[in-house]
Amino acid sequence: MEQAIDPKARPGFVGRAMHALASELYPICRSITGNGLRQTLDLVGEHIPLQRFEVPSGTEVFDWTVPREWNIRDAYIKDRSGRRVVDFRACNLHVLNYSTPVHRTMTLAELREHLFTVPAHPTWIPYRTSYYKDAWGFCLSEAQLAGMADDEYEVMIDSSLSGGSLSYGECVLSGNGGSDDEVLISCHVCHPSLANDNLSGLSVAVFLAKHLLARERRYTYRFLFIPATIGAITWLAANREQTSRIKHGIVLSCLGDAGAFHYKKSRRGADVDRVVTHVLRTSGHAHEIRDFMPYGYDERQFCSPGFDLAVGCLSRSVWGEFPEYHTSADNLDFVTPEALEESLDVVTAVVAVLEANRHYVNTSPFGEPALGRRGLYRSVGGSGVGDENLARLWVLNQADGNHSLLDIAERADMPFTLIERSARELVASGLLVDPADVRPDSA
Ligand code: ZN
Repeated sequence: MEQAIDPKARPGFVGRAMHALASELYPICRSITGNGLRQTLDLVGEHIPLQRFEVPSGTEVFDWTVPREWNIRDAYIKDRSGRRVVDFRACNLHVLNYSTPVHRTMTLAELREHLFTVPAHPTWIPYRTSYYKDAWGFCLSEAQLAGMADDEYEVMIDSSLSGGSLSYGECVLSGNGGSDDEVLISCHVCHPSLANDNLSGLSVAVFLAKHLLARERRYTYRFLFIPATIGAITWLAANREQTSRIKHGIVLSCLGDAGAFHYKKSRRGADVDRVVTHVLRTSGHAHEIRDFMPYGYDERQFCSPGFDLAVGCLSRSVWGEFPEYHTSADNLDFVTPEALEESLDVVTAVVAVLEANRHYVNTSPFGEPALGRRGLYRSVGGSGVGDENLARLWVLNQADGNHSLLDIAERADMPFTLIERSARELVASGLLVDPADVRPDSA
């Protein structure tokens, strides 16, 4: 069932719905393959149209191989009395993600090399993985470990690693303009009960898709819900020829916490970098723009030199730079409806700029056109020109076909929204045309 957003319901309603989606997904034990990942895609598919893909284990994808599929049913460490001192059913972070199966009795001393904690935060459980090296282990709090006597324990992980497939989902919203140009929106969906790192990006992506479903679109929007790294590499291997259609792209991650926005630019330097920078600068939100580096989320794959796509990464707090990162403290209290909705507002504003950023031409370029008699020059009193009048003058002056509206907004140091509104008024008055709208055969 597809659900469109009623923009009048803001503020608050959308943020709460985004948080509710994260809450519904939170308990699922996800990984880079397996049933938790499929269950997650099932839920996403209840909100937006989602096409599902299954790529068999063993498939060669560039320099990688799709791994065996991992599934887990239960896991625990039991003390001599049979009490579960560490219990997967209480928190799925307790198991080293991708653990091989194990069932044996061992001493605490033997067990220790399989245990992981966060020493700096004694009540937090860390999130650890071992996707590409066979291993098993448990993650627990320092407090839990301190409570374990030097005794024998029954250790059990009921997991399986076997031939299966890697799952991912794609939501494609075709443009109405007949162009093949695409905007790529990607998020990772492979972390278990972690809210900011994983579910916030997923929630923003789902609600951005809902927002776009209800609107005319010039671009085609391709949303990827993929396991990190191997999912992006698998998708790129399967879609190598089509990537040339991608004109702009953003990886969404860590967008639900209260931290300042961070945008990491694409490797090549691209329009999307300028658009996000402009939106953040004019939004009034605290933010930082960072240069590309070859680590982080899946922008690394999209920006690998063979592809070098125009894809950046938008976050609030940056992975690895907040203490809750990859721990049980990255939970549903750490992400808020307000922060999620604010992040959605930023990405919808970015999309609005991408959609509206055109190269117009002034149809009356010899001297300033007489705006007053067209009702386009409003007297403002005092000695100033007024922002609205000045915005129209900037558009008319710069609209020679070589400058986009974003170029004009930047040169005028005005918000894109004001420049774009002026352009629409000037188009309506006949003073501005988009040459792309004038078909040669109609001339
Ligand atoms: Zn992560």
